[in-house]
Amino acid sequence: MPKLSAVVVGAGHCGLAVSRCLAERSIDHVVLERGEVAHSWRTQRWDSFRLLTPNWMTRLPGRSYPGTDPDGYRTAAETAQLIAEYATATGAPVRTGTSSRSSRSSRRSSSSRSSITRHPPPSGRRACGAASRGPCSPGS
Ligand SMILES: Cc1cc2nc3c(=O)[nH]c(=O)nc-3n(C[C@H](O)[C@H](O)[C@H](O)COP(=O)(O)OP(=O)(O)OC[C@H]3O[C@@H](n4cnc5c(N)ncnc54)[C@H](O)[C@@H]3O)c2cc1C
Repeated sequence: MPKLSAVVVGAGHCGLAVSRCLAERSIDHVVLERGEVAHSWRTQRWDSFRLLTPNWMTRLPGRSYPGTDPDGYRTAAETAQLIAEYATATGAPVRTGTSSRSSRSSRRSSSSRSSITRHPPPSGRRACGAASRGPCSPGS
């Protein structure tokens, strides 16, 4: 694995938001995801699940609710889709099917080491590429 300034573990809301903020600051990084983007929303929710928080509240850096139902409540599948679209739109450098097993950072050398394991991506989908630029604050 090449030397990078930052490693983000998990391509859920938080990991992708952090990735967006790192990219905005031109900090090279990778997002390691053991499954697919939004893995938790795809695999750890039940069929009838809906968010408790309304659509307008679900915000990610640079992105606010664009639809016509701000007071609606997303399903898990819709939430997964939202997160996956965000990963694609921001060009988050996600490595799917890759588990982080440990990590260690060194202040002296400003480097960190990670032990990672490659898994076959569940559906072969992957998001990677150059990150976009823009303000890094929710809904801006
Ligand atoms: C049942 C339930 C209902 C919820 N309802 C709401 C709601 O209505 N509104 C709301 O705002 N929030 C809700 N939440 C909370 C919301 O899910 C979390 O706040 C949000 O998902 C946290 O995002 P995250 O990116 O930290 O975690 P996650 O979305 O869980 O993403 C973490 C990612 O990290 C990956 N990962 C974990 N370990 C590793 C590893 N070692 N190596 C590589 N990848 C790894 C996982 O596969 C996953 O994709 C709910 C949570 C649950 C469990």
